[in-house]
Amino acid sequence: MVKFLVSACLAGVPCRYDGAAKTSPEIVALVESGRAVPFCAEVASGLSTPRRPAEIVDGDGEAVLDGRARVVDDRGSDVTAQFIAGAELAFVAAREHGVEEAVLTPRSPSCGCGEIYDGSFGGVRRAGNGVTAALLLRNGITVRSPD
Ligand code: SF4
Repeated sequence: MVKFLVSACLAGVPCRYDGAAKTSPEIVALVESGRAVPFCAEVASGLSTPRRPAEIVDGDGEAVLDGRARVVDDRGSDVTAQFIAGAELAFVAAREHGVEEAVLTPRSPSCGCGEIYDGSFGGVRRAGNGVTAALLLRNGITVRSPD
């Protein structure tokens, strides 16, 4: 029975902005056992792979959902709408599978839990959740990074 929604890149899918995966043996094992469903919010939103790196500017995922912050790529293009759409699709997938917990990729502007980059594209971290993590949390789903 499916228990977890997991970031697809943790499950070995090469869907990150740079066309790579971020494979976690823990997550691959969960998917192979049928207990986790992999999902990539950014790919689901229609963004291509590879794609420009993106960060949240002037806030975190909660602020993006509230219209108080934006997601932009490193050339300044606004991709806020795609990130929100991807988060909503992730929540739909979580609800369809009845999952109560998500295991998500650290520091991603979509999947980050508790820590993200600050929007400067300088590798500076700040406290906060990505847009998908924030939407799942708002809907009562536990989110965490892999062990
Ligand atoms: Fe991985 Fe999440 Fe980024 Fe997709 S949106 S590449 S699943 S971190």
